[in-house]
Amino acid sequence: MSKQTDHTQLPELAQKAEPEWKRYFAKNKKKVEKMDVFIHGLHQKYSDETDCLSCGNCCRALGPRITDKDVERMAKALRIKTNNFIEQYLRIDEDGDMVFRSMPCPFLGDDNYCAIYESRPKACREYPHTDRKRFYQIYNLSIKNAYTCPIVFNVLEEVKKQ
Ligand code: SF4
Ligand code: SF4
Repeated sequence: MSKQTDHTQLPELAQKAEPEWKRYFAKNKKKVEKMDVFIHGLHQKYSDETDCLSCGNCCRALGPRITDKDVERMAKALRIKTNNFIEQYLRIDEDGDMVFRSMPCPFLGDDNYCAIYESRPKACREYPHTDRKRFYQIYNLSIKNAYTCPIVFNVLEEVKKQ
């Protein structure tokens, strides 16, 4: 296993790297459009090398968008009614989306384990999205995510070398 990027240093590292990532994308958008297979390989590599339990940044800082299905699943796991779940844990944000009432996430433990892992929202399952089809469409979003997630930071660092 290679040395893990220190997640506490990410804001500084990403801020330094951002101009170069942007320049690379401006010049190579067409190329990135054809790089899904390569990028998904990087996603796998850095996901394998990264210990999410020693990080937890996303669960502390980013509120996932929560769907009705997510609510049903989480309420069922906690054995409470969906209305009670909504009242206790959720709010509507400025974009009209359901999100957790407060962050860090109420289900994040001190050990960085998720108390409802099997029933967590779809957005939590899909984060950090570096395995998404047509990655070029979320390249700019990924720059934002690189301030939080070492997996994304490393993927963007590798992509820019191509
Ligand atoms: S539900 Fe679980 S995975 Fe999602 S933000 Fe909360 S602690 Fe993290
Ligand atoms: S997905 Fe990224 S930000 Fe979230 S815990 Fe894992 S390494 Fe950290």
